[in-house]
Amino acid sequence: MKTCSKCGYESEENQLKNGLAFCSVCIRFAPNNPEEIDRYISETISSPEVLDPLRKFSSFINFQQKKAMMKKASQGIPQSRPPFGYVYEKGKLIPAPNYREVEEIFEEFLNSNLSLNSLAKKRGFSVNGLKKILFNFTYLGKIKFNGQVHEGNHQAIVSPTLFNHVQNKLERLKIKKSN
Ligand SMILES: [Zn+2]
Repeated sequence: MKTCSKCGYESEENQLKNGLAFCSVCIRFAPNNPEEIDRYISETISSPEVLDPLRKFSSFINFQQKKAMMKKASQGIPQSRPPFGYVYEKGKLIPAPNYREVEEIFEEFLNSNLSLNSLAKKRGFSVNGLKKILFNFTYLGKIKFNGQVHEGNHQAIVSPTLFNHVQNKLERLKIKKSN
């Protein structure tokens, strides 16, 4: 259980700032500067209940913010580089002219006995690059956000069946996703 350094409210959802835990209300006003943060917590709040009405509203705001962030993420905010087989158009992922190659790679991994090394070489990828493709949910039209997989707004270019078969084979061969 983390205790808010300002008001004493106890919750697992309290967040850390400068190594100190704060509740959803107090973190909003906590200064970034470590010296100011000391002064901030030196003036404590008599009892955490005083802030309860604000706290309720605050978690509502957090929820709204999260929703807005998810919406943004699902619209496909351009990252440094789109996954192989896609291009960005006006910030949205669309299939690249070579998109069929992705399916071919999935098929070939599934149906041939080529090692990951040989397949990577054959297709002109590094082994890590190939792994990135084979594990990528993007090809299912999904996006990964906040560690969770969500429905995306872009076109899938690999069928769920093919994708799942490939995941099974990866697991069977004990091939792990690399970071
Ligand atoms: Zn607090």
